Amino acid sequence: MLLLEHEDGNALRSPRPKSIIFAAMKFEYDVVIVGGAFSGAATALLLKRRHPAARLLIIEKAEAFDRKVGESTTEVSSCFMTRILGMSNYLGHHQLAKQGLRMWFSNGSEQRFDDCVEVGARYQARLPTFQVDRATLDSHMLETAVAAGCDLRRPAKVSRIELGGESGQSLCLTSKGAEETVTARWIVDASGRAALLARKLGHFHQNIEHPINAVWARFSGVKDWDSYEWRERFPDYANACRTSRNWATNHLMGHGWWCWIIPLKGGDVSAGVVYDPRIFKLNEGANLGERLRAHLLTHPVGKEIFGAAQVIENDIHAFSQLPYSSAQVCADGWASVGDAAGFIDPLYSPGLDFCSYTSSYVAEMLAANLAGEDVSARLDYYNKQYPITYRLWFETLYKDKYFYMGDAELMSAALLLDVGSYFVGLVTPLYRNPEREFLRLPFEGVPGRVVGSMMSFYNRRLVALAKRRLVTGCYGQRNSGWRELYDGFVPDFRVRKLIQKGLFRWWKAELTNLRLLFTAGAKHRVPAATSAAPVNA
Ligand SMILES: Cc1cc2nc3c(=O)[nH]c(=O)nc-3n(C[C@H](O)[C@H](O)[C@H](O)COP(=O)(O)OP(=O)(O)OC[C@H]3O[C@@H](n4cnc5c(N)ncnc54)[C@H](O)[C@@H]3O)c2cc1C
Repeated sequence: MLLLEHEDGNALRSPRPKSIIFAAMKFEYDVVIVGGAFSGAATALLLKRRHPAARLLIIEKAEAFDRKVGESTTEVSSCFMTRILGMSNYLGHHQLAKQGLRMWFSNGSEQRFDDCVEVGARYQARLPTFQVDRATLDSHMLETAVAAGCDLRRPAKVSRIELGGESGQSLCLTSKGAEETVTARWIVDASGRAALLARKLGHFHQNIEHPINAVWARFSGVKDWDSYEWRERFPDYANACRTSRNWATNHLMGHGWWCWIIPLKGGDVSAGVVYDPRIFKLNEGANLGERLRAHLLTHPVGKEIFGAAQVIENDIHAFSQLPYSSAQVCADGWASVGDAAGFIDPLYSPGLDFCSYTSSYVAEMLAANLAGEDVSARLDYYNKQYPITYRLWFETLYKDKYFYMGDAELMSAALLLDVGSYFVGLVTPLYRNPEREFLRLPFEGVPGRVVGSMMSFYNRRLVALAKRRLVTGCYGQRNSGWRELYDGFVPDFRVRKLIQKGLFRWWKAELTNLRLLFTAGAKHRVPAATSAAPVNA
């Protein structure tokens, strides 16, 4: 009965031609979205706003959202949340403003805290970004989608999907022990790593070139980076930086691994390690929480920050083999968004960027179809461009990066070049015209490929330089005694300065490499704090 009322109401308001209305009325819903977290809720909300008559159902298996990873947002995902979704007010009141990205390098666990290398911004971030508690953010987004007129089944798990192209799709869902079938013209897979459709259709591919794992937890009792005690103990450290380090995403860097430290509203802190098992093995220990804590304490900065911290019970998690992608991301009747389409690496927090681009694109495409447009060309674009975007994003920023991320000189060159290119290629155009730019996937066309080749080239060179440094015992030699606090990245021509700085640092490392080639002996040495496992470089 509810369904009939819904259909009638929509038919009255619908701007669609009659034939399309009758075709759509064969199905209970125009679109069913599987998964109601960030990507699912964002797709639903955008589609409903773009096409108010759309009959949308969101199916979410979790009764309530847990805290999850995806807590640090970038300039891209924040632009999506503030400008496209219009959530500035919510974010300002309920989440934390993030103060940039900061990296800490060391050459041994006995190094003094204030001798470690620090790289990051000196001043407040120029663009709004956030540290988000995903349990509350995702709940807010889902509530907003429901308030906009989407139906919600929750808790309800989709257990079977039958795809029939333009003849319609059917889903079997289980809710509180009862099974039910719903039909729809379109299915959007927003099921995250479950990647329901990619797996069902055989499109799911593990990215075996990048075999990284992650362990993470939330902690209480983590020290304040800007505390009074620290001002007294480390006045140079305290006075060097004008913004608060406490609200940044702080990264501890090592050979084959990095750790994130993200503050959450209310005082808990999220921390995790991501590592490449080809290079690094996580120490053994009684349980995952203890192993993670022990690892954080191997870094002099971690030792100071987490010395008195406690892992919050039942909030310890691990994933292995993080990266994967779907070879096909849509066809007539279905499309995948967010993590259901793929995931690469959490360094630089690109996860929600992918969710933002894919949700925008798919919402726009389905709205166009529901309004009567033939969307074959849009489907074609998404299927062709997504693998290119995924591949170039991977090759430019992540492929073999774990070999050089523990060397302050090499990694800081990469940071300047990577983030500088991100500002030139994505952030600047997005802030000029977010509505248009969120409908194009990154690395599009010839310019995208040219930029991709240039970035992949310097990334490959940095890997080669790191390998030379490892065999000659020079890896991490400059991991002490300096601090680089720059003005901050801005979405205009001033970002050139930081890119230039990155280029000079890379070229200087090339000169050092030439010297090593001709003079250094091949003795193996890796800095103590970064050598928890044998090096296979
Ligand atoms: C270690 C790690 C750290 C990360 N850190 C960051 C970061 O700092 N910043 C960032 O931007 N990204 C980060 N990411 C990536 C980020 O977590 C994801 O990109 C993001 O959470 C994906 O959102 P989503 O909505 O696509 O999927 P999810 O958030 O996974 O949501 C999927 C939803 O689908 C539901 N679902 C699944 N199966 C079914 C089913 N059968 N029936 C019904 N519902 C179902 C689930 O319950 C869930 O609510 C990180 C990822 C990892 C692995």
